[in-house]
Amino acid sequence: MKNILIIFLCGSALNAQSLEDPNNSPLHIISIIKPKIIEQSTFGFDSSWVDSLKLQLPCKNVFVPKRIMRLPNAPRDYRNGTHRGIDFFANWGTPVQTVAPGVVIRADHYFKEVPPTFREDLLQTSAKVGHTPSDIFSNVLLGRAIFIDHGFDLVPGFRSITIYAHLSSIEKNILPGNIIEQGTLIGHSGNTGIRESTLGSRDGSHLHWEMILMKDGLEIYLGKDIPNPGLYKMLNRIFG
Ligand SMILES: [Zn+2]
Repeated sequence: MKNILIIFLCGSALNAQSLEDPNNSPLHIISIIKPKIIEQSTFGFDSSWVDSLKLQLPCKNVFVPKRIMRLPNAPRDYRNGTHRGIDFFANWGTPVQTVAPGVVIRADHYFKEVPPTFREDLLQTSAKVGHTPSDIFSNVLLGRAIFIDHGFDLVPGFRSITIYAHLSSIEKNILPGNIIEQGTLIGHSGNTGIRESTLGSRDGSHLHWEMILMKDGLEIYLGKDIPNPGLYKMLNRIFG
């Protein structure tokens, strides 16, 4: 009896609204939303976008790692997220350089490591909401980071940026708004933003690097949903 009543009420609400303005009726709105959702969920990364892309390695003689867990799309269970970038093997203090020319967007000169319990609490929050919220990812988990804007020239049709994370230091001249050439020394690798760093250790040091492409209201990381070994091959060619 209850169910019938609810259906009847919903039905009359629909009718009442559709009489007022057909464009505001729930059914009309759903018909508009549906194709949009399908469009977004099937929007994957197309490797042809980066056919002509050539980048310099961010650390000299440190190559793209083969292990899937260090590449884009690897699961990050501890924070309910997906790895968007490449974890280059780089000991604490390895020089880091820009992969392409660009403009500095962010440079965390005044980064201060967070207390370990605060970091743990944020990871639990991530687990609770079912994904890594962008504020937690960007402000805490990246550690000391640099963002470089490559404009629309590097990947045709997209704005692209690159991110260099977990740094131990940043060069003095790397300031927002500064134009920098490809291969410019921007800082040194480290483990900021990683659990070990919050405990005062240098363990776990590496360079987390990622590239984000932007177009039509969407932001998509380099290599999103590209399976291996194609992903590794593509990244190797870009850094070749
Ligand atoms: Zn990483």
